[in-house]
Amino acid sequence: MGDRTVNRLTSRTPALAALLVLAGAFPILRAQQAAPDLLLSNGKIITVDERFSIAQAVAIRGDRIVAVGTNQDLARLAGPNTKRIDLRGKSVIPGLIDNHMHLLRAGQTWLKELRFDGVESRKKAIELIQARAKAQGPGEWVFNIGGWAHQQFADDPKPFTREELDQIAPNNPVALQESYYQVFLNSRALKAFEIEPGKPDPMDFVKGSIMRDAAGKPTGIIKGDIAATRPVAARLPKVAPNQLEASSQALVADMNRAGLTSFGVAGCNADVLEIFQKWKTQGHLNVRTYCIGGAAASTPEQADRSIQQIAEMKLFQGDDYIDNVFFGESVYQPLHDPMFALKSSPRADQLEQWRRMAMALAKAGLPMHVHAELTDTIDAFLDQIEAVNKEHSIKNLRWTLAHVNQINAGQLERMKKLGMYAAVHPWAVINGGIMHEGFGDGAYDMPALATIQASGIMWGFGTDATAANQYLPFTTLAFAVTGKMPGGMKVIKQTISREDALLAHTRKNAFLVFHEDDLGAIQPGKLADLVVLDRDYLTIPADQIKDIKPTMTMVGGRVVYDSAAQTSIASR
Ligand SMILES: [Zn+2]
Repeated sequence: MGDRTVNRLTSRTPALAALLVLAGAFPILRAQQAAPDLLLSNGKIITVDERFSIAQAVAIRGDRIVAVGTNQDLARLAGPNTKRIDLRGKSVIPGLIDNHMHLLRAGQTWLKELRFDGVESRKKAIELIQARAKAQGPGEWVFNIGGWAHQQFADDPKPFTREELDQIAPNNPVALQESYYQVFLNSRALKAFEIEPGKPDPMDFVKGSIMRDAAGKPTGIIKGDIAATRPVAARLPKVAPNQLEASSQALVADMNRAGLTSFGVAGCNADVLEIFQKWKTQGHLNVRTYCIGGAAASTPEQADRSIQQIAEMKLFQGDDYIDNVFFGESVYQPLHDPMFALKSSPRADQLEQWRRMAMALAKAGLPMHVHAELTDTIDAFLDQIEAVNKEHSIKNLRWTLAHVNQINAGQLERMKKLGMYAAVHPWAVINGGIMHEGFGDGAYDMPALATIQASGIMWGFGTDATAANQYLPFTTLAFAVTGKMPGGMKVIKQTISREDALLAHTRKNAFLVFHEDDLGAIQPGKLADLVVLDRDYLTIPADQIKDIKPTMTMVGGRVVYDSAAQTSIASR
């Protein structure tokens, strides 16, 4: 056979592949390639590809998917050394991606925190406090740093009191931080912080944030948004340096157990990142970490310095496991909306600094992912970005507004024209009750999910966990489909289809972390990140979506979580 014949055959292959796709078949591994290492079959593979195809089997070689199709077709590819997993009819989805989580920070406390993510019963929460107090022993802290709100307790949705926590855990200091809204302390915790009747408040607490009764006795409540809760969190014990690796490992294991495999990480803390780097070298880093970082400025002088740093900043020097992909999440600190602010009024002089920073980013060709929550802030940022775009085009830089709880149709239209994206972090998943107290009926459209979906803009889900929000992806998906927060309270009106919700947690998020060629769908050529579910996401009643549990999670073809093989992690 002459060279020309070979060339002709080669050139025909793409056309043949296109025909197979049109005929409803899946692209199949070419026969001359090596047999797959692993074959998953007898499943309902929800591929989340461009046609939302459903397949039966997936073949994996090395860390990539090499074929997706029917049991019969893929069985032919198997060789003598191909390992097989029988899915027994279970559904499989791509590894879930959270486009914005403060993941690495959580490693510093995870092993010590008593998490309430997904706990929908107050009775159960109390049992967890009692069990933790007993396990820790007298005098040891029992605490969490956000990720829950009392409105999620279906049986008895009410706050904790000092007296109640004294009864539940009489021998332990207790601090339960409800999102970033308030913290509930018992008497031992108040004593540890030297918050006492007749004594002035400790210097590091925000003025007026320590609630006291008419007689001046502290009630145990510290309240007043992030600024008020932060001093409490700062005083709580972090894990010891020699425990940091174990704590980070427990964190990653919990993420894999929840079906999460990749993250946009707001602020990649150096100490935990170093551990991730080590695991990567050793071949057992079980989450993909795409950092959102860079030096935000708080003053015009700092902006001068930041602008110099931006000119030198290099992103995309990493790999599939760890990389820096965005400048963010803050650009100019005075314009960073507090979480529970009801309204913003961005000042012209501050916006000028914000624009200088944004201009430097555009000039350097850097992607930006910026915290933007309230409607006036979003409008003001878009004004600046439109001005920047006239001088340095931001097209293809994937500039992303993050959180966007109050985004509206007009703003989405402006963003679309600019080639921008929306990282949607529905704080209402746990904060919906609190937001209804502040915003009234306006909270029903925070976020306006159907409006965002209908706009046609590229958007994806994140949580902003682990303090501002809970981290469980099926809780987010259930919220998107039903409008209900854990515990069943209906908090938003605009819901979306399960398919659109899943897309926003997978394929679209792959784009929002710059890895659309590698992640977000179960397709030949993509990395083998996938999750086997205990029930079918597409067909179970909507109210059960929140209860879906992964039975197996895979990252790069490696099983990183297997419910059947859980001993060490589950016993924690
Ligand atoms: Zn933020």
